[in-house]
Amino acid sequence: MTLARSDYGAVIVGAGIVGLFTAYHLARAGAGPILVVDRGFLSSGGSGRNGGGVRQQWATRSTIRLARESVSAFRRFSSEFGYNIWFRQGGYVFLAEGPGELERLRSIHDVVRSEGLPSRMLSAEEVGRYVDGIAPGAVVGGSYLASDGTVYPFPAVWGLFEAARALGVEVALGTEALGLIVRDARVAGIATSEGNAATPVVVNAAGGWSAEFSQRAGLAVPNVPSRHEILATEPTKPFLDPMVVRASDGLYFSQTMRGELVGGLSVPHVPGTARGVPSSPRFLTAMARALVDLLPRLAGLGVLRAWTGYYDDTPDGLPVLGEDPRLPGFVHANGFGGHGFMLAPASSRRVAAVVLGEPIEPAVREFSIDRFLSPARTAHTETLQLG
Ligand SMILES: Cc1cc2nc3c(=O)[nH]c(=O)nc-3n(C[C@H](O)[C@H](O)[C@H](O)COP(=O)(O)OP(=O)(O)OC[C@H]3O[C@@H](n4cnc5c(N)ncnc54)[C@H](O)[C@@H]3O)c2cc1C
Repeated sequence: MTLARSDYGAVIVGAGIVGLFTAYHLARAGAGPILVVDRGFLSSGGSGRNGGGVRQQWATRSTIRLARESVSAFRRFSSEFGYNIWFRQGGYVFLAEGPGELERLRSIHDVVRSEGLPSRMLSAEEVGRYVDGIAPGAVVGGSYLASDGTVYPFPAVWGLFEAARALGVEVALGTEALGLIVRDARVAGIATSEGNAATPVVVNAAGGWSAEFSQRAGLAVPNVPSRHEILATEPTKPFLDPMVVRASDGLYFSQTMRGELVGGLSVPHVPGTARGVPSSPRFLTAMARALVDLLPRLAGLGVLRAWTGYYDDTPDGLPVLGEDPRLPGFVHANGFGGHGFMLAPASSRRVAAVVLGEPIEPAVREFSIDRFLSPARTAHTETLQLG
């Protein structure tokens, strides 16, 4: 597919939730012709491979604010875009297996509450009311926020794809971004597998491949892709409203409205994308054991399918948003770890504001790549990169 034009107001690399949302915000603001390129197909990246969890319980205020704004956007999504994303606010329960984890959850709960969100600490007995059938003695308590929840990711991507195109955005699937054209030490264009195009702005929304694309642009970044596995079981009678996350090891699962359990657990993999995204028997065994130990009622439940995808990890667990000072015109929208779907609406609104040249919001400054270029400036670390 050849590109429709030879020049664009901005080019976005990656047609996942972040790239499409950014394109949508830009097009709504009336920005010049926008091109989104993706070498894969729609939902081939993390946006089509995730667990659909949406939470506002975070350790850092800046992440809580992104998450909170994003929850409002997900609540509006179906009426705004005409696609039902099945956003269900069934809450998130974090489980503590011991007193240390409980203290950790309590300190996070204090931050969440101070941001105006009514999270609650739960006793072991109260956890049992939300997670029916939990093994006796498996937890000492937990934390809970009722307005957290889950979405069905695919219609969110479809809705944004349609909405962006209806606003005139060109989305070129099967088109690889090969590198940048740099003139006078700033971005002047992009080289793609379908030809070159002039543009003053390129947004790196390449998800787990963001480091690869930054490197193609000649920029070293600390992002590291890591493979994570997830599975869906056969349906079972609905018994679980919230998403459940265990604080000690990040085991997470929720039950869909069809009754399937969907969840994951991190097992070690060599970092990087070179080995592709195969599922491993090791994950199936570890996940089955963890689930059945915690919820004996799940013994004997069959696994329907398992799949994997990449997190895009950063050293401090926070995303990277905004223009790279080393190369004016190169804008980051990446580094979301395993939580980019839930943070996409608010993050991409901020990225679009940067592209539009609007005043930089404090939150964008906090997420700037600057913090890694001068290590003394790394101010916060997100410690709830779980699930
Ligand atoms: C197993 C798993 C579970 C997860 N669970 C959750 C969850 O519960 N909640 C949550 O919020 N997040 C979750 N995530 C993370 C979430 O899926 C991602 O953070 C999010 O989807 C990232 O969106 P994105 O648009 O940045 O990237 P992606 O959706 O990965 O899109 C990036 C796109 O860039 C394209 N691309 C890359 N390089 C190039 C190039 N050079 N040229 C052209 N195109 C290129 C790729 O083809 C890809 O389509 C999970 C991830 C995984 C793997």
